[in-house]
Amino acid sequence: MTAVLRRRRRIEPAPIPTEPTERSCAAFSYTVRFQRRKTISLHVLNDGAFEVRAPVGYHDEWINEFVNSRTVWALGARERQLQRQQWRQPVAQGAESWFLGEALTLQIERGERFVAAVDGELLRVRAPDPEDYAAVDRRLRLWYRAQAAHIFAERLADCCKRFPRPVAVPPLALRKMRRRWGSCSRDGRITLNVDMVRLPPELIDYVIMHELCHLFEFNHGPRFYRLQSEAVPNWRALEERLRRF
Ligand SMILES: [Zn+2]
Repeated sequence: MTAVLRRRRRIEPAPIPTEPTERSCAAFSYTVRFQRRKTISLHVLNDGAFEVRAPVGYHDEWINEFVNSRTVWALGARERQLQRQQWRQPVAQGAESWFLGEALTLQIERGERFVAAVDGELLRVRAPDPEDYAAVDRRLRLWYRAQAAHIFAERLADCCKRFPRPVAVPPLALRKMRRRWGSCSRDGRITLNVDMVRLPPELIDYVIMHELCHLFEFNHGPRFYRLQSEAVPNWRALEERLRRF
């Protein structure tokens, strides 16, 4: 994640970029890396550390000013990044795998064919080659999708029953979506993100209720929010939690 600010003034380039140095602002410390570049930027690295990349010779005061102007963005970006990383650990023996809001521990054993099942805090997987994580990952994705299909259909039927207005269960599609949890088409079809099966049940229900509201109010206008408040009185708190995933 990156915030970029155009360089304000032309600066004579120093001959050699200096070594990265550690700095800190009021909220966090960061590394400054001077490079042959024209703009200054702030990055959140994979381990959650901050790194400023600045043109060679860029003045300290400008660096401080730039970082201070991006503190709120930076802290939010880091939190989201760390959440996502924790949430999407690569498949490996003992790794975490989220299912319905629980961090299950993957236990991969040798078996004749692929089987997966939740057993308390474990997600037990049997696979012909337990060390072939790529193959386990592929099969596990199919398992997640099958769970999602079953669970979402059940939750959708339940949410329709609890909806403040009479509503027939709409057709449901499952997709992998990068930026959205759900959507509702003009012809009343609801699409849900397969990955949502990793979320806590109350968040799944909230997304479904949100999409059901769109069957009556297509846009996010005041009437939409009135209906959503009727369907899910605590939706603001749920929305706040959902944003962290
Ligand atoms: Zn919406």
